[in-house]
Amino acid sequence: MTVITDAPNSLAGLLRPEVLAISAYHVQPATGFIKLDAMENPYQWPEAMQAEWLDVLKGVGVNRYPDPGAEALRSALRRANDLPDSVDLMLGNGSDELIQIILMAVKPDTTVLAPHPTFVMYRQIAASLGLKFVGVDLQEADFSLDMDAMREAIAVQQPGVIFLAYPNNPTGNAFARKDVLEILSMAKGLVILDEAYAPFADDSFMGDLSQFPNLLVMRTLSKWGLAGLRLGYMAGNPAWIAELDKVRLPYNINILTQVTAEFALSKQAVLQGQIESLRRDRAILFDQLSALPVQVFASQANFITFRLMDREADAVFEGLKQGGVLIKNLSPSGGALRQCLRVTVGTPEENQRFIEVLSSLLQS
Ligand SMILES: *Cc1c(COP(=O)(O)O)cnc(C)c1O
Repeated sequence: MTVITDAPNSLAGLLRPEVLAISAYHVQPATGFIKLDAMENPYQWPEAMQAEWLDVLKGVGVNRYPDPGAEALRSALRRANDLPDSVDLMLGNGSDELIQIILMAVKPDTTVLAPHPTFVMYRQIAASLGLKFVGVDLQEADFSLDMDAMREAIAVQQPGVIFLAYPNNPTGNAFARKDVLEILSMAKGLVILDEAYAPFADDSFMGDLSQFPNLLVMRTLSKWGLAGLRLGYMAGNPAWIAELDKVRLPYNINILTQVTAEFALSKQAVLQGQIESLRRDRAILFDQLSALPVQVFASQANFITFRLMDREADAVFEGLKQGGVLIKNLSPSGGALRQCLRVTVGTPEENQRFIEVLSSLLQS
């Protein structure tokens, strides 16, 4: 009995204060909603392709450990991304795991820097590991990089790791190429270009890897259409990849993911067709939102962020939920995201329903 009553106290004494201080990453319940909150691809595979996939899975021996280096999948990803031999590739259980691996490998006094607002896992993982995190505010008007502030923060803070989500989540814009190049030249430490939304973007830094030895480019299959598989990958200088790979757990990519991702890459045309539909529907959704009394931000991702003008974001978010549509309320984060909502591009029918409910809320 005594042991149980004492447990919470002894637990608190056992844990690092930074672990006690952070809150768990929260995912809102989505059952029963039109789900436009998490940047998922809304499309399933065609039936014939599903049948072919299940045939492939039949041959998989789950009694054996997977290939620890996932060599076949890595080769397929190299081909798909046209990577030169001078660049190495490392796989993660989602790119979230790659962020964690990078931050576990650096010295405890390393400062991690990223623009703000951006993908929350950079801060979350840095905090969980006790690393100092510095967020540099983006320009409030269009969420572009505030280069004066970035130059100063890099000079003063001397960050060992800089994360740039390109395009940025939750704002949707891609930063100016010349600004990113300046940061790459200026930074003394690692710069990670997180290209999670590459399938929906017009530009990439994959082609710049050979020029910048401190550059790592991270991608994921999640937004491409395989969020359930959990597969991220990171390309970069082989010397960096070799060191970081020591921190990676063996067998971090399970056998079903290895086999399925390889299969999906052999059917790239199908996935690419879905991506093209989503890009077209993003343009339609952008025009429809622009016709409403909201401020819409240009997006190179599979979501659109917009700011309410004369309505409370919290109320509109709840109204959408009551209309059966789940999006993301960014407003509670405050700052430049006050009164902002983020909607993922879904199927044409889902987008239509979202626009209908939103229009009626803004008119009432
Ligand atoms: C969604 C997202 C990720 C997470 O990718 P996973 O591979 O699913 O872990 C990483 N970075 C950014 C910017 C994202 O928006």
